[in-house]
Amino acid sequence: MKELLLDVQGLRKHYATQPGWLGRSGSKVLAVDGVSFSIAAGETLGLVGESGCGKSTTGKLILRLQDPTAGRILWRGQAIEALTQAQMRPVRRELQAVFQDPYSSLNPRIRAADIVAEPLRNYEPLSDAAARDRIAHLFERVGLRPDQMVKYPFEFSGGQRQRLGIARALSVQPRLIVCDEPVSALDVSVQAQVINLLMDLQREFHLSYLFIAHDLAVVEHISHRVAVMYLGKIVEIAPRKAIFSRPLHPYTEALLDAVPVPDPTVRKQRRVLTGEVPSPMSPPPGCHFHTRCPSAEDRCRREEPALQQVLPGQWVACHLRQPAALMQPEEALP
Ligand code: SF4
Repeated sequence: MKELLLDVQGLRKHYATQPGWLGRSGSKVLAVDGVSFSIAAGETLGLVGESGCGKSTTGKLILRLQDPTAGRILWRGQAIEALTQAQMRPVRRELQAVFQDPYSSLNPRIRAADIVAEPLRNYEPLSDAAARDRIAHLFERVGLRPDQMVKYPFEFSGGQRQRLGIARALSVQPRLIVCDEPVSALDVSVQAQVINLLMDLQREFHLSYLFIAHDLAVVEHISHRVAVMYLGKIVEIAPRKAIFSRPLHPYTEALLDAVPVPDPTVRKQRRVLTGEVPSPMSPPPGCHFHTRCPSAEDRCRREEPALQQVLPGQWVACHLRQPAALMQPEEALP
């Protein structure tokens, strides 16, 4: 049985908005609204959805860059959702991040070697020579040259800066890396190189990734399982193959239909999403997706569907998708 690293249960993040003028009370933004999932050792969970669906906030909550409003975050069995920053210190070593814009997350006044060494020095009292050896090895491992150790971030290309960010995350030998849109700012050819690097590193170090992205092609390439978010909730979570060959939630179907087909002679019946994403300040009652769902029924406007296991390993929140008869549930957690 695989080792369970991360177990997220009913995670919520609600922001209070400023009170309006004439003393009108502020309202709440339901950025993340009861999200549950798990990640095993060596596994990549892709987290997808339109911008503003809460996927990046979910990543920040797990990293404890923001405090959750409610819910549990179990890291290797330990509840970390209420730990102080000091108590989080040993956990942070195992739980690292790579962000979308490497330039803004790298200090422009610090040389590349020191950027990579920074987290390492926080945890290990290494001599300068030992630190230099470790950093040189990391540079080599992520595809950078040792002579680039003395350069500043502006002297690197976008792809090289992302490699630098990956080396910095790797320096403390983490178990899980939250990758928040790590390749979306890069050219397509460079994207493929960085994704392949992440996959190689996963095999070598038995890493786990929470891979947050809006590009489904990238997510399909790297993920073992995929979770689809809409308005702060997970609406479907399943193994990659099931999501991409047999999506069961109407929103997942529409997202996949929106992916451009490279061959123009291939025509398929497209379900086009109409309407705007509703505001997370006032999500629609019942199923949040009912205002855009082509299959919506009366019940959908009244009752919120629960996320339930419909096929082995495939969890869906939709009234039209009920568990298959005689199915033996495979897993206790999505
Ligand atoms: Fe569409 Fe109803 Fe299913 Fe929601 S519950 S996705 S509105 S069919």
